[in-house]
Amino acid sequence: MHLLTDIEAGKTLCLECEWLSDEDERTCTQCGARIHQRKPFSLLRTWSYTIAALLFLIPANLLPMMVITKLGIDEGNTILEGVIYFVRHGEMSIGIIIFIASIIVPLFKIAALFFLLLVAQLGITDQAKNGVRLFRLIERIGKWSLLDIFVVAIMIAMVQFQNLASVKAGGAAFAFGVAVFLTMMATEAFDPRLMFDKEKT
Ligand SMILES: [Zn+2]
Repeated sequence: MHLLTDIEAGKTLCLECEWLSDEDERTCTQCGARIHQRKPFSLLRTWSYTIAALLFLIPANLLPMMVITKLGIDEGNTILEGVIYFVRHGEMSIGIIIFIASIIVPLFKIAALFFLLLVAQLGITDQAKNGVRLFRLIERIGKWSLLDIFVVAIMIAMVQFQNLASVKAGGAAFAFGVAVFLTMMATEAFDPRLMFDKEKT
């Protein structure tokens, strides 16, 4: 059974309240939100932000996240080395949080965005409902991606407070922040309704 999309029915679906307004309306007749039948240049913008986010993850993982100064010698730690550092120093839970927040979550979100983009771009409409579930999931975990930055900040404060060593944020912290921001922009630019369209407008 083929259900009509809003375009085929001459309507525009509101993404805020899911009300269907007539296609020539510019604001939702139910809740007053601004509505587009499809977000403008959604696929182009989502592809761009997603690929850029993936590129920023490279320096985020190769550059030092923290620079620890011990006896006047600087020692840089990448994200992964940082995880190992915390695990070795008996901070297993902090190591696991950093590993999940800074490696697993960003890679999962980017993989999910590529899946959504392919479903929408290639018109794989039988995957559209799975796509919507995935889209809602990555929207929800978006704000947790910044957790890692907070963990690094807390660690820096803790280590300096204990006077064990001097710790500073490295270049990876910046690259990671940019990657997180670009992933959020990609999620925002993506229009999940495109996954239900056979014909692209
Ligand atoms: Zn509405």
